Amino acid sequence: MQQGMNDKPVIAIVGGGFCGALTLAQLCRQSSIPLSIRLINKENPAGRGIAFSSYNASHLLNVAAAKMSAFPDDPGHFVKWVCDKPAYQQFHLENLGELFLPRVIYGHYLEELLEYQLKNLPAWIDVSIVSDEVIDITCTDKGNEVFLKNGSPFLADKVILATGNFVPANPSIVNKSFYEKGKAYFPDPWKENAVSDAAGCKHILIIGTGLTMVDNVLSLIEKGFEGKITAVSTKGFFPLSHKKTAPYTAMLPEMNASFPLVRLYHIFKKHIREVLAGGVTGEVVVDAVRPLTQEIWINLSLKEKKSFMQHLRHLWGVARHRLPADIHQRMTELMKQGKLEIVAGRLYDMEQVNGSLIKAGIRLRRSGELLHLEADRVINCTGPQMDIRKIDNDLIRNLISRGLLCPDEMYLGMQAFPDGTLVNAEAVPSNVLFTLGSNLKGILWESTAVPELRVQAKNLARMIISQLSDVPQERIVRSA
Ligand SMILES: Cc1cc2nc3c(=O)[nH]c(=O)nc-3n(C[C@H](O)[C@H](O)[C@H](O)COP(=O)(O)OP(=O)(O)OC[C@H]3O[C@@H](n4cnc5c(N)ncnc54)[C@H](O)[C@@H]3O)c2cc1C
Repeated sequence: MQQGMNDKPVIAIVGGGFCGALTLAQLCRQSSIPLSIRLINKENPAGRGIAFSSYNASHLLNVAAAKMSAFPDDPGHFVKWVCDKPAYQQFHLENLGELFLPRVIYGHYLEELLEYQLKNLPAWIDVSIVSDEVIDITCTDKGNEVFLKNGSPFLADKVILATGNFVPANPSIVNKSFYEKGKAYFPDPWKENAVSDAAGCKHILIIGTGLTMVDNVLSLIEKGFEGKITAVSTKGFFPLSHKKTAPYTAMLPEMNASFPLVRLYHIFKKHIREVLAGGVTGEVVVDAVRPLTQEIWINLSLKEKKSFMQHLRHLWGVARHRLPADIHQRMTELMKQGKLEIVAGRLYDMEQVNGSLIKAGIRLRRSGELLHLEADRVINCTGPQMDIRKIDNDLIRNLISRGLLCPDEMYLGMQAFPDGTLVNAEAVPSNVLFTLGSNLKGILWESTAVPELRVQAKNLARMIISQLSDVPQERIVRSA
């Protein structure tokens, strides 16, 4: 059984994307007590995670550089890092903060940040980064044991689930066996193989019309695909473009996070009407409400949350997740040329006709008619799977079956407190297991992008350090 070097409290971080890496950095920055930190990460390079391991430099950040600092108390950190890098001198512009830079550059930033942290550790902290998968965790009165797929198990005092984005769920269709043999079906839209070797294809169907669809369209075209792409989603919304606008402040005095959803909606709608009448786009109102969204969500009743999900979620998503203007322009041109078509409808069925052709049926939103398509390839861009009961992942399955983890009431992630303390199946808060990031979507709603995740990483590190500082060191249970 392993133990922390010199018998220090051990903190295990599961997942090394933005959330894992930044929680590690914050623990190192904030802790004045000895710690032994182990970050276990599978698949993507540590620091980058899924979002910032992008294989294509045309995949841009969807948040402007000025808002992408990894540290909430040092907002210029990312922009300064870019300015200090001769390799990125093409971006050394006066308006750098307003630019949407390639995600690979942000991945480089996170990787360097992690490297810097490891080279500059306080003497009382040791860190190890392990390429492996955590497949189970047990919490007994003998200790909390972390089991790895390949390495030896070890004991930890605190475990942080920074597991990030899970591969999208397969859309529900009539012919369920399709997914067992659909050779031209690509379930993971973040992997390069979804867009590789497509030059000979004539028609590609993308399920989903959000930002990941756009990434895939850009990559297909850059890789020489010259055919047609059809993208389908139930509402057929296409992402809006980021626009330069002054912050909208007129709504805030009328807003109160404790108002019922209906009242909030009316205030929101009134202001949308006002900005539209003034010739400004409605997104400024969405931006104005963002600092309050977590608080609003926490205050909503279950009925109101369900109502939001049913009636407003798609509209909110399209106004909230926007495209840099030049990418939006490229997409608009592709649509004008007939190379990209957005369809509003529900994927009804798919059938693999031969090794390389898929027949798909889409129930159209307006007419209810069934549209029949033939595609050489289908890419699933429906967004990360959030219902943890359905995630194909050993760790999540095992934690649920042990009763250590359960879904939140909306099935959008894990049951937890807003501070990231996980709650078990008997509604007891854990003093060992914590989470942050997309696992908290059901608790906070907005728990996705760097501006909110960096705050979570900082606060979670502070809470964990404070809990460990309160416990006399000899009472820390580590040996089985
Ligand atoms: C394609 C894409 C683009 C995005 N673009 C932006 C953007 O431009 N700006 C922005 O602010 N946000 C963006 N986001 C939101 C993004 O989710 C967050 O900004 C952030 O990167 C999430 O980091 P994370 O660490 O929570 O998750 P992830 O990046 O998903 O990292 C989680 C890591 O944990 C590993 N892992 C999971 N389970 C285990 C296990 N059992 N054992 C070991 N390792 C495990 C995974 O392999 C992965 O490496 C984007 C998201 C996606 C998917």
